[in-house]
Amino acid sequence: RIAVVGSINMDLVTTVGRRPDAGETVSGDGFALVPGGKGSNQAIAARRAGAEVEFVGAVGADVFADALRKVLRQDGVGVDRLREVDGPCGIATIVVDGGGENTIIVVAGANGRMTELTAADLDTVAGADVLLCQLEIPVATVFAAARHARAHGTVVLLNPSPVRDLPDEVWVEVDIAVVNEGEAARLESALAVVPHVVTTLGAAGATYRGPGGLAFTHPGFPVRVVDTTGAGDAFTGALAAHWHEGPEAALAWACAAGALATTTLGASASIPEAARIERMLAT
Ligand code: ADP
Repeated sequence: RIAVVGSINMDLVTTVGRRPDAGETVSGDGFALVPGGKGSNQAIAARRAGAEVEFVGAVGADVFADALRKVLRQDGVGVDRLREVDGPCGIATIVVDGGGENTIIVVAGANGRMTELTAADLDTVAGADVLLCQLEIPVATVFAAARHARAHGTVVLLNPSPVRDLPDEVWVEVDIAVVNEGEAARLESALAVVPHVVTTLGAAGATYRGPGGLAFTHPGFPVRVVDTTGAGDAFTGALAAHWHEGPEAALAWACAAGALATTTLGASASIPEAARIERMLAT
């Protein structure tokens, strides 16, 4: 069983030929509401990869709250620990212009107000095999969850994204870190204290570095790439779901899930189901 303590938000995606200057109004070409947040995406990824998943997080008191809750529930992710707080949900306002260039404004909203964990939240963490966290909620909350997990024998998997420097006291609670190459470079010295480090390499797959000098690379699966958004989240969720099978098997599942996620458009919509991942592993 996996407990995700993390973010959930609604992306408001507007496409426009040319973005407006200050004070100007232009006509846009399209609009879509896309549920996201690394916490929610990775929870769905772990669930689709075959794990039981409980989501610990927060939505706001606005029209997006029910839609976001439904997204998790539809996939069978447990939402008993999804709380509702005052103010807006986490929101990302994304403008994509005719040149394919993005500008993004992220409002942390409810995710930023996840400043405390309840006794029931902590019980969920203690009862899980793996705690999965990212950095889209306050670091103090991630730290509290990780420390509680460690004290109860729950494996702590941290995807330190969006990347930032963390106090050493956080890193010593982490069993597994999943980083991309940029994060690996930025966090190099901090990662030295983490027993298991998985570095994603895009099309080249991922590397593993573990205790006793064990290290290997799992090659990427060849796919026809449509959109790489969500590949990292699909990878991390699948890794958490299959960690109990050992690093070799877990990286294989993760690389297959990440590769499949690049073959369709979108973030959560592109996260593959276990059956598809298994078919890719069998090739
Ligand atoms: P991020 O998007 O977080 O930077 P990556 O681009 O490294 O992460 O992608 C995460 C994982 O998804 C990779 O480790 C790999 O397994 C898979 N993946 C990503 N892009 C491709 C690709 N073009 N072909 C095959 N697998 C890919």
